[in-house]
Amino acid sequence: MTNQINSAFASLNDRALVHHSSYISGQFHPGRTGHFAVHNPADGSLLALVAEAGSTETEQAIAAAAAAFSAWSGATAAQRSALLMRWYQLMQQHQHDLARILTLEQGKPLTEAMGEINYGASFVSWFAEEAKRMNGDIIPAAATDQQILVLKQAIGVVAAITPWNFPNAMILRKAAAALAAGCTFVVKPSELTPLSALALAELATRAGIPAGVFNVVTGTDAKAIGQVLTKDSRVAKFSFTGSTPVGKTLLAQCASTVKKVSMELGGNAPFIVFDDADLASAVQGLLAAKFRNAGQTCVCVNRVFVQRPVYDAFLAQLIQATAPLKLANGLETGCQIGPLINQTAVDKIARLLDQALDQGAELLLGGAIDADLGPLFFQPTIITEVTPAMRISQTEIFGPVLCISLFDTEQEVIELANNTPTGLASYFYSRDIGRIFRVAKALHYGMIGINEASISNAAAPFGGVKESGLGREGSSYGLDDFTELKYLCLGGLG
Ligand code: ADP
Repeated sequence: MTNQINSAFASLNDRALVHHSSYISGQFHPGRTGHFAVHNPADGSLLALVAEAGSTETEQAIAAAAAAFSAWSGATAAQRSALLMRWYQLMQQHQHDLARILTLEQGKPLTEAMGEINYGASFVSWFAEEAKRMNGDIIPAAATDQQILVLKQAIGVVAAITPWNFPNAMILRKAAAALAAGCTFVVKPSELTPLSALALAELATRAGIPAGVFNVVTGTDAKAIGQVLTKDSRVAKFSFTGSTPVGKTLLAQCASTVKKVSMELGGNAPFIVFDDADLASAVQGLLAAKFRNAGQTCVCVNRVFVQRPVYDAFLAQLIQATAPLKLANGLETGCQIGPLINQTAVDKIARLLDQALDQGAELLLGGAIDADLGPLFFQPTIITEVTPAMRISQTEIFGPVLCISLFDTEQEVIELANNTPTGLASYFYSRDIGRIFRVAKALHYGMIGINEASISNAAAPFGGVKESGLGREGSSYGLDDFTELKYLCLGGLG
């Protein structure tokens, strides 16, 4: 099976996009120590056996990236930009195949997977442009015979660890900025979804990105790989997207070599509906911000707060809109919610839901697995009477469960919304301009959707405050995480 194409991939236009081993120094490496299985969450079928890589391969990948750094960072911005644009064009050209691979290994509806390919690629084209604008500065000097110059330079080798919920875009959000800045890159994708990462490696080769500039290490021993990526002194910058506990561990590991670090960690997003909101628009926004990727995104809504005067009307509209959402295999036409990633995810959600119901929450819709579809298909669910004391309010649910609470005053809901150690995305709906600015300033979050639920794009700085992380991805600020400022003091000019 290792080098064979599974029948699930038979309908791809370009089957050479499916690879089964790490990509180091421009080559796909046969494994030394066996293989691990990648399954389709929709039906549990075996999709691929991928070669295990561990600390040895990780060190090889870092060595390849270190060797490639001088030429890559020394190329002109226009040269790097042209190669990134070529990579981008190949992603667009192969959008259907990349999306299909993504849905097969991750489960999300094919329409969402198409969206993710487009979204991931948009960072590549964005940073292909930004590469040309990595401008420095000239600052008025402290003495008349001096000149102060500030250069921005590529920081060096970048190591990254990425999660399974956006197997394509979480890599590209980092790699596009890193490569644009002149850095070389080693990524360990999630062991649940390595195929999307390897397809990007195939396209990197075809785009002519030089060997060693982009490397992918696939393996199940995340701890061992993570130890090398966070502690090797050749790595100058470490970037992680994943859960808060793992992020804290990796942040601590990076301390040993004082690396520059970016962390994109978990959230506990509030969604506030004020009494002056456009309710129909709020309902549509909530569906998008809750059920995208079956609720498995770090910016997914976790807690919904609705002001008393519109509570009943909002709830009625919400139930009506949620009930017909189509739960299905992501490849099926019309699918709106796919399976959860694995049994652990299902068990966690069932446990949180049971606890909440035991503590007085009320179940209005869903609440169980759709056994006809399979063990990982969780019905879209709505519960009300949710209180801050319930675990479900304090935990990132990562599933299609809407938790609704009632509130009376603006001050009260701001306190409720901020009552969490995390601060990634938040959302509120209001048409009162005064309230919009008051609430936006008071919410302690890195990102706020105001009458808008779709907030992430390449032009915007994505990131969180508090325990949600460090640094920003995307936007013109996004290069900063991959560059170092160098101050030149030119004297003797008098
Ligand atoms: P999620 O809940 O999204 O799976 P994790 O934080 O567990 O979040 O996983 C995100 C990424 O971190 C994955 O690539 C996973 O393999 C990796 N990972 C998990 N634990 C560790 C660890 N101890 N050291 C390094 N990487 C890890």
